[in-house]
Amino acid sequence: MALSQIAWKDGKIIPLEEAVMSIFSSSVQYGWSGFEGIRFYDTERGVAIFRLRAHLERLDYTARALGMAVPYLPEDLSRGMKKLIRESKMREGYIRPSMIYPYPELGISFEGRGVSVAIAIASWEKKPANKGPVTAKIVRTVRIHPGSTDVTAKIGGHYVNSILALREAKKEKFYEAILLDHRGFVAEASAANIFMVKNWVLTTPSLGSILPGITRDTIIRLARDFGYEVREKDISEAELLASDEVFLCGTAMEILPINKINETIIGNGMTGGMTLQLLRLFSDVVHGRNPKYLTWLTFVNS
Ligand code: PMP
Repeated sequence: MALSQIAWKDGKIIPLEEAVMSIFSSSVQYGWSGFEGIRFYDTERGVAIFRLRAHLERLDYTARALGMAVPYLPEDLSRGMKKLIRESKMREGYIRPSMIYPYPELGISFEGRGVSVAIAIASWEKKPANKGPVTAKIVRTVRIHPGSTDVTAKIGGHYVNSILALREAKKEKFYEAILLDHRGFVAEASAANIFMVKNWVLTTPSLGSILPGITRDTIIRLARDFGYEVREKDISEAELLASDEVFLCGTAMEILPINKINETIIGNGMTGGMTLQLLRLFSDVVHGRNPKYLTWLTFVNS
């Protein structure tokens, strides 16, 4: 990942090194921050941000969950992102808007402090299927309990759970981590949702303990439009291990096929047929090659 040398901060484009804040801010000390991860793609009609509206809605949802009064409208942020992309001259990449309390503050009661919003962009190499499927480990680290925090918000502090899970998997030489929820059902990967295929039926864990991923929503809609049956339900560990295909999905990783979970080979160990179809469909949609889904694209020159 290579960060662009400019950032948007509170309405202005500034050099990246000036986008700084106190290390004693509650966002740094306690993870009291909210953020989004968004991708933009090169298309025949110019550079376009994928599903920007959905990401801005989730950012707003996260701000509400944290009680943060963001002094910008979604349109201000959208304009900021477009400007940043245009000025960076990047044609494909990743956008990271974050909402923080930038002030030094050691207590945990910080009502009424002003929120700062900063946006960085970066080139983030994709890890799609053309690099082959990867392995995953069902880790002991349990996905954060929905009774302890709002797990559907994209809150900075939640990612301690993700980082610990990923480190646990990496320690045993697996590429990714699969977390179970507090009841023992499959939840999601460290920063991605999970899908399994059995007999050409696509299944993904229902909402409850997981981040409601925008890529997850995209895939459900594409698969249904394509005529596949899609189920959202509890998935047991045994069911996952007995599936024909498994893939992860998220903005950063897009669609990532899994060919081995723990010591079990999934399917025939190759990227499965439905995963391949969805990969193609997804790539066409994000690159503006499928006219049916053009409303998901926000062109940066518009
Ligand atoms: N779950 C978690 C915990 C994540 O961090 C992400 C990445 N945002 C996802 C799922 C996938 O969400 P999206 O498709 O919206 O990027």
